[in-house]
Amino acid sequence: MKIIVCIKQVPDTTDIKWTENNTIQREGVESIINPYDIYAIEEALKLKKTLKNVEITVLTMGPLQAESMLKKAIALGCDNAVLISDKKFAGADTYATGKTIASAIKNKLPDYDLIICGQFAIDGDTAQTGPSVANQLNIPQVTYVKELKKCDEECVYAVREIEEGLETVKVEFPALLCVLKGFDEPSRAKINGIIKAQNTNITVYSMEDIGLTPEETGIKGSPTYVSRAFRPEHNRAECEICSDCNTLVQRITEFGGFSNE
Ligand code: FAD
Repeated sequence: MKIIVCIKQVPDTTDIKWTENNTIQREGVESIINPYDIYAIEEALKLKKTLKNVEITVLTMGPLQAESMLKKAIALGCDNAVLISDKKFAGADTYATGKTIASAIKNKLPDYDLIICGQFAIDGDTAQTGPSVANQLNIPQVTYVKELKKCDEECVYAVREIEEGLETVKVEFPALLCVLKGFDEPSRAKINGIIKAQNTNITVYSMEDIGLTPEETGIKGSPTYVSRAFRPEHNRAECEICSDCNTLVQRITEFGGFSNE
């Protein structure tokens, strides 16, 4: 069984800063693997422990410095790593990112059963990339996956977290899953994995390698235009701290918070 895990390098900060083009400032900020993608890797590793002949390829679209993140994924137990990197990818929105990842998979890794993504990236946070990849590959997708219950050569049973609770969905391969923070703590790298990572060559593909033109990727292939990015303003003057329960109940009642029914 062949699994592709899509991972993204994100700034190691919640204090996001913006460039003058309204994109996220990435230079000069320490980078980490997107936390949800660690859980995507973990689900793939759990399948590798329970099933025979599982091969995990970790894939990212990003700058050359993303190699170090891919090596960390190899140290955790993934088998191969692919970096899609080209200056022409700069300025890609989620549609162009999805198209680029899908083209790399179609052209270079067509023999897959399962693609696992994180549900969100903590910087862009649109949750669009996974569904966009699935759509462009024309395969089924399951989002908000909390854990994988059962899996064989043909299909997987994915447990989704929904507002009403949990629901289990059966999906046949090839398919794409977007995973949330799972129930289990992710594995840590072992010494053998770290040594393997040091000796692993990362395969790098350019725009031409994956069969795209400049019109289909990067800023030219991106229908989104970010006109303004800003922090919402909090009007603290309207905030009142209630020091006792009676005042709290009174305020909620004033705001119509309690119903008589
Ligand atoms: P989400 O959709 O929230 O991520 C969900 C999951 O998808 C992740 O957990 C991961 O599994 C997978 N995933 C997401 N991104 C990748 C990836 N790159 N490789 C592999 N898997 C991935 N970003 C830049 O870095 N440089 C730019 O120049 C740039 N320009 C932009 C211009 C515009 C107009 C816009 C709208 C965005 C731009 N971005 C740029 C941001 C970039 O489009 C998004 O970061 C990217 O498309 C992923 O979206 P997201 O962060 O919302 O991820």
